[in-house]
Amino acid sequence: MKYISTRGQSPALNFEEVLLTGLAPDGGLYVPESLPKFSQEEIASWASLSYTELAFKIVEPFVADSIPADDLKAIIDDTYSADGTADFRHPSVAPLVQLDKNEWLMELFQGPTLAFKDFALQLLGRLLDYVLERRHQKVVIMGATSGDTGSAAIQGCKRCSNIDIFILHPYERVSEVQRRQMTTVLADNIHNIAVTGNFDDCQSMVKASFNDKSFLPADRQLVAVNSINWARIMAQIVYYFYASLSLGGPLRPVAFSVPTGNFGDIYAGYLASKMGLPIDQLVVATNKNDILHRCISSNDFTKHELVHTLSPSMDIVISSNFERLLFDCYGRDGAAINDLMTRFQTEDVKLSDSAFSNVRELFDSYTVDDEQTVKTIADVYEKTEYLLDPHSAIGVEAARKSRRRNDIPMITLATAHPAKFPEAVMKAGYPHEPELPHHMATLFDDEERCQVLDNDLATVHQFINDNLTA
Ligand SMILES: *Cc1c(COP(=O)(O)O)cnc(C)c1O
Repeated sequence: MKYISTRGQSPALNFEEVLLTGLAPDGGLYVPESLPKFSQEEIASWASLSYTELAFKIVEPFVADSIPADDLKAIIDDTYSADGTADFRHPSVAPLVQLDKNEWLMELFQGPTLAFKDFALQLLGRLLDYVLERRHQKVVIMGATSGDTGSAAIQGCKRCSNIDIFILHPYERVSEVQRRQMTTVLADNIHNIAVTGNFDDCQSMVKASFNDKSFLPADRQLVAVNSINWARIMAQIVYYFYASLSLGGPLRPVAFSVPTGNFGDIYAGYLASKMGLPIDQLVVATNKNDILHRCISSNDFTKHELVHTLSPSMDIVISSNFERLLFDCYGRDGAAINDLMTRFQTEDVKLSDSAFSNVRELFDSYTVDDEQTVKTIADVYEKTEYLLDPHSAIGVEAARKSRRRNDIPMITLATAHPAKFPEAVMKAGYPHEPELPHHMATLFDDEERCQVLDNDLATVHQFINDNLTA
């Protein structure tokens, strides 16, 4: 399979190359040149497969020319099976919970850091380590985090001997659970840096490092694991098939509501539909950072200021992966996307009429403020004794407000465990901080390792060079 850029000006890459690359040189994002298509009979024949068996079926066509089938099987087993090393704690991996008639949750927080990002980053770490071993190459991963991504990336890379990972977080500005999920991983190749600045400072330093990589030794490539990485999207396609197959698909369609920030998770649902899975509707659920809701509901694709909300993992100004959907909705015209995204930087833009109506065929959207988020957590808890985290609550509320049909299952992706976000949960009237799952009971006692550094690029680069493993 070949991967092409959404802006049409970069050479096509194979899977191994795309795995080790971030943005395309023309500023676009890589997408498959064509998608594998599965017939209804073939999808129906997967009804009894385990999560790992299903993941192999879905992922294999995307990587086939880079990774032999047996090796891929072993990687996927290690990532998601109950006796693998990745610590997905539930035998179903992505269990479904029923809230009401035709109203479901898919729990995507059973991985080691209690958020859905584990699904992608556990697989990504293993895929990277596999190809690096084969190439006799070592790389440096550098990332900035305000919480969830950093811990999931660290957990995904802790056994990868060919990767040194440096995660920058703003000193004393992430929650204690989030910090400890990063700093208590003591492997030699894991490096936490607390920068005496804010999240933007961290992100700027990472950006500057990618723009000028000369601070690294010549033999160390710098790799990004942010949500534009194609392999992360690919891993997320699997659970859409899994949920559908559990609820009568592909014979009957299902719908999904997805708490959305960078549009990576829900874009994977769109791909599942393109690959043959009958999906009736995809609901983009946003918080007050609602550029996607404004775009999908009224074709207003303009940037607004960042707002801090009770659902911080969805606090974004621009949803980077939306460009991948737009590429399809503009008939895969790279020049049109280049023009649109260039104008988007400096002016107020609208989608073309045909692109706008293409987006609205499958997608609806809804925006939920903090007050309503808290009300939904309280309401669901009162009726079912199920405790939602604030991101998942936004998904549930958006599903209730914008579902097209009541006679097919609506599945909200529960993207995080409530224990990660005690503030919102307690505002909803829950009497104390929600308990961590028992496998994490020692989190608050475990030893931490973290380097506090000045908000200065040269200092950070010096630290990285001093701490590369041999
Ligand atoms: C990252 C994240 C999201 C948003 O996912 P995108 O793929 O960026 O749209 C939603 N909820 C939680 C808990 C997250 O960590």
